[in-house]
Amino acid sequence: MSLDLADLLRRRVRDVPDYPKPGVVFKDISPLLADHVAFAGAVDAIVAHHGRGTIDKVVGIEARGFIVAAPVAYHFGAGFVALRKPGKLPRATYAADYALEYGEATLEVHKDALSAGDRVLIVDDVLATGGTAAAAAGLVQQADAVVAGVSVLLELSFLGGRDRLTGLDVHALIDY
Ligand code: AMP
Repeated sequence: MSLDLADLLRRRVRDVPDYPKPGVVFKDISPLLADHVAFAGAVDAIVAHHGRGTIDKVVGIEARGFIVAAPVAYHFGAGFVALRKPGKLPRATYAADYALEYGEATLEVHKDALSAGDRVLIVDDVLATGGTAAAAAGLVQQADAVVAGVSVLLELSFLGGRDRLTGLDVHALIDY
């Protein structure tokens, strides 16, 4: 990825201190999504990192992950699969529980959304502690599919999230 794109993306992420709770600096990607050069550049850079023809399904994590994952899937010529919060998917699901900073969360995927052996790219907006991405990888593995990588717009590397994703290709367009 060019330094110019990284610089543009960095300028289009807005820090919101103490949101959603005191002590957290929320990384607001709304300005990045609203800038067509930044948004398209980010999508293209994710596809270029992996290479067309290498991915069968792109999974997006509810909710901001959907926004990035869908155009990435389109560009790959791959299918899009939603990982959703509990109770949103109407048919039989696999579920993975994981720890958040405070409390617990669960992600679900339709059991028939991924096929055994599918090469799957996991896409989200932010990699923080890595719990969400690790749960997503667990769901892919429950379906006997293969995690081809994890791509995020930005990584909070001081939180060490990639340590929970050992052995996976973890790719962030910008990091802090
Ligand atoms: P984690 O499981 O800790 O890696 O958290 C990743 C998920 O939480 C992603 O789906 C993000 O959307 C969200 N997230 C965590 N920390 C932040 C942050 N500082 N700013 C924006 N989103 C965040």
